Parts: sequence; C-alpha cells; structure tokens
Amino acid sequence: MIFDLHCHSNVSDGALPPAEVARRAARNGVEVWALTDHDQLGGLAQAREAARAEGMHFIDGVEISVTWRGSTVHVLGLRIDPANETLALGLARVRSGRIERAKRMARELEQAGINGTFEGALRHAENPAMVSRTHFARFLADIGAVEDLKDAFRKYLVPGKPGYVPHQWAVLADAVRWICGAGGHAVLAHPGRYGLSAGSMDALLAEFRTAGGEAIEVVTGSHSPEHYRHFGAIATKLRLAASRGSDFHGWREGAEFGTLPALDPALRPVWRDWTL
Ligand code: AMP
Ligand code: MN
Ligand code: MN
Ligand code: MN
Repeated sequence: MIFDLHCHSNVSDGALPPAEVARRAARNGVEVWALTDHDQLGGLAQAREAARAEGMHFIDGVEISVTWRGSTVHVLGLRIDPANETLALGLARVRSGRIERAKRMARELEQAGINGTFEGALRHAENPAMVSRTHFARFLADIGAVEDLKDAFRKYLVPGKPGYVPHQWAVLADAVRWICGAGGHAVLAHPGRYGLSAGSMDALLAEFRTAGGEAIEVVTGSHSPEHYRHFGAIATKLRLAASRGSDFHGWREGAEFGTLPALDPALRPVWRDWTL
C-alpha cells in the first residue's frame, strides 16, 4: 500500500480545493491518503468524499503549529476524530490572530519598500482567517519581488528578515494531548527543517514522547536522503514509529504525490497496526 499522510488544501495554504488534492493524490498512485491542513479541519468532509470516489482510503488529519522554546515546529495528528470538541477548540485558539499577524507582517514589508502585501496575500488565501506566510510568499513572487517561494523564504518572512513577526502558536504538550484525546496519532512533522542542534532535538523529542507523541516524519518533501537516514536512525533509537508524506501544497512547494521513496523497511510505520 502506498501511504501519503501529509498535504494541504486551500482550506489552509495549499493551492487546490480538497477534492482536487484527492484526485491528484489518487492519480499519482496514493492508496492511503491523509489531508493535514494547518490548524484546520474544514476540508476533511470534502476530502473524505472525494477520496471515497477515487477508491482511496482516507485518514482524517491536521498539522498543528506549535511554539517550542521560541521555534515553530509542526505536529501532525492522524486518524483524529474531527468531531472532538477539545481539539476543535484548541485549533480555533491556534488559528486566531493570523489576520493581526498578517497586518503586522505587511507593515514590516512596507518599511522594506514593498506595498500592498496584506491585500495581495489575502487574494491568494481562499480562507482569509488562515492567511499564512505562504500566501505572502506567493504574492511576493507574483510581483517579482522574489524569484520563487524559496527565495521569498530566504529574503523575507523568516527570523531576522523583513516580514517576520514572531507568533505564539500552541504549546507542544497541548497539541499532542488534543491529538491523542481525539483518538489520533501524533507525528513530529519534518524535523529536518527546524535547524535545531542535536541537544535541542533530543529535548524536543523527549518532551514530545512524554506528552504521547508516537512517530517522526522521516520521508517528506523537505527532507534530503541524508535526513531520511538521520531521522530514521533517531526513530529506531528512541523506539518511535516513522511516517511518510509529501507535504504537497500544489504550488512549487512540498513534493508531488508519488515521487518520494518508501520508508526503510527496518522502520516501524506509524500505520502498522491500523485497520483500514
Ligand atoms: P505560517 O504558518 O504562516 O508561519 O506559514 C508556514 C508555511 O510556510 C509552512 O507551512 C510552509 O508551507 C511555508 N514555508 C515555511 N518555510 C518555507 C520555505 N523555506 N520554503 C517554502 N515554504 C515554506
Ligand atoms: Mn504550509
Ligand atoms: Mn509543516
Ligand atoms: Mn505541511
């Protein structure tokens, strides 16, 4: 079975509606598919229906934004119950404040000489309450202020560069507990992206595990083959399970469905004991 357990629709910062993402996943050979929008469950019903029409197994998912020791990290919740109230309330709290943050980001970019980014980012955001750095990056690429999305996240929108506004997301242990409380499995998303020292990564994983975290995302769009080996070894050492997902966003970001390698068979996949 081909699993892809991480991607986005335009309910958060993906470019395509949930049903189109489902069709794209199916066309690229995915057999077990999760939609994991940022801090949002709004696309799951549509995604589930489209997945069924495509003959794919569907997994209800979410990717929760967390602030851990001043860094932003992401935690995937897989097989969550979308009707769970504590999870929904927690996510609503995490989502609130994106508009205010976006206004502050726009003011900073204005000071750097780029006007109209708040309105511009909103034009790319199907769901204004979920306006994100991705939407700013798309607008900056549109007007030629940067070459592409990668360039936008090099010159702007990141710590130390114009357009970065620190934000307080969820507390790590809360995010993991919301996921577990909703019957789901918590997976630390793309650990290779955080730029943490080995010591900090150890501390992050220890805290994650203590809270109930089960798995590390090993194979994902932003990881290199070196990351696959490195985080695969860490998963084995810490007896954590491993996960795999493209992080497809549909816009020159994340991998295309069906292009990443399988998990190393020596790893324990997070889905090992799931009945589909
Ligand atoms: P936000 O939640 O508003 O801080 O936006 C975070 C999103 O920005 C992530 O989910 C990614 O989709 C995107 N992102 C962050 N860093 C990069 C990067 N270096 N290249 C491309 N996209 C990025
Ligand atoms: Mn994203
Ligand atoms: Mn992420
Ligand atoms: Mn993601």
